[in-house]
Amino acid sequence: MRQAPSQKAPPKAPPAFHVLVKPTGAVCNLDCKYCFFLTKERLYPGSPFRMADDVLETYIRQLIEAHRTPEVTISWQGGEPTLMGLDFFRRAIEIQDKHKKPGMTVRNTMQTNGVLLNDEWGAFLREHNFLIGLSVDGPRELHDAYRVDKGGHGTFERVMRGLRVLRKHQVDVNILTTVNAANADHPLDVYRFFRDEVGTEFIQFIPVVERDNETGFQEGTKVTGRSVTAEQWGRFLIAVFDEWVRRDVGRVYVQMIDVALGNWAGAPPTLCVFSPTCGNALALEHNGDLYACDHYVEPNYLLGNIKERPMVDLVASPSQRRFGRDKLDRLPGYCRACAVRFACHGGCPKNRFIATPDGEPGLNYLCAGYKAFFTHVDRPMRIMTWLLRKGRAPAEVMRILAAEETKEAKGPAVFAGARRNAPCPCGSGRKFKQCHGRGSPP
Ligand code: SF4
Ligand code: SF4
Repeated sequence: MRQAPSQKAPPKAPPAFHVLVKPTGAVCNLDCKYCFFLTKERLYPGSPFRMADDVLETYIRQLIEAHRTPEVTISWQGGEPTLMGLDFFRRAIEIQDKHKKPGMTVRNTMQTNGVLLNDEWGAFLREHNFLIGLSVDGPRELHDAYRVDKGGHGTFERVMRGLRVLRKHQVDVNILTTVNAANADHPLDVYRFFRDEVGTEFIQFIPVVERDNETGFQEGTKVTGRSVTAEQWGRFLIAVFDEWVRRDVGRVYVQMIDVALGNWAGAPPTLCVFSPTCGNALALEHNGDLYACDHYVEPNYLLGNIKERPMVDLVASPSQRRFGRDKLDRLPGYCRACAVRFACHGGCPKNRFIATPDGEPGLNYLCAGYKAFFTHVDRPMRIMTWLLRKGRAPAEVMRILAAEETKEAKGPAVFAGARRNAPCPCGSGRKFKQCHGRGSPP
């Protein structure tokens, strides 16, 4: 049998990159109404949609060879990856162990709808330290609005059962929540459900922006009625942020807020959507076809097949580097002049299909929401950045904001003449010098 290609990283290859691998292609056991991936089945007519062993080994070997970092992450996604069955993943671990470089850590993450999870899965996922991204859209009525099975029935109960399995086996779980027309006006119901009832510490919100066309590709400017509007998206994020910044800093991690704080603090970008450029988050289909991005699994963005050309060459190819640079090069003038560009960077190119107020194409459909959110969070973000620079915990922002609100409510006269070591007049129980008498944040 001909050995699939293997090669040293070309000079333009990034030291690390991310590939969402779809062992079942687009095939899923559910029929979520907003799923952009179900239409992708048309790309491979007649395919069994199961990753063969030689593709699996080629992928893992090439990914490990291509990384010049001590850690590699393998991200299983779909469709629904658990449809492959446990033996497929046992084999994947075996291959990882075979090809791992000395001292290298290989991590596995899996995005799943959770309905097939049982104790056997739970024990396996725990044993191999999988990080699970579980798709839940909120409490039952909001979740069941769009996340239905092939018979059109809600899946909430089954997903919660899957979550209980994961909890029982102490598997690490992130909640992945799409924000769509059904739940967008209920931000606090959604957030508090996850925080108080599910008890999650990690939440990722993903806006549903679903183009309304026949192809299922990123074409046209019409969106479906299931999509979130820009204004809803902004209001949703602001409501969640306001709750979080008053109660949950340091104990609940909301990806969008975390990434924003990183951008305020000037840290290297961690999420492609809010980075100046992208192109290092690709998608691998079940047959070895590599695409520019999970959102661009379309013929025009097919880079090649990893059985014919090493993955690292495809990642470093001029067309993929151009794809990544286009995020910056095609930024409209309106974004370039935007006060929150440093945090937003124009968002994801897949959503840049509206015109700016002066008629330039290429503005993000969610722009109004991003602008409202990033503007709203500016001061708390500056406080948290200031705290970080002083070596203090960002969670102190909660006390600072509470103190300011008390000060506003009680009036500044209460604090006039307060002694440094006396109890603070705001009633916090702390000394004045450790409360309202403390050095002022920005
Ligand atoms: S197109 Fe969007 S999702 Fe894809 S890599 Fe670029 S920013 Fe990320
Ligand atoms: S908020 Fe709007 S104008 Fe500003 S960078 Fe983002 S998409 Fe562009």
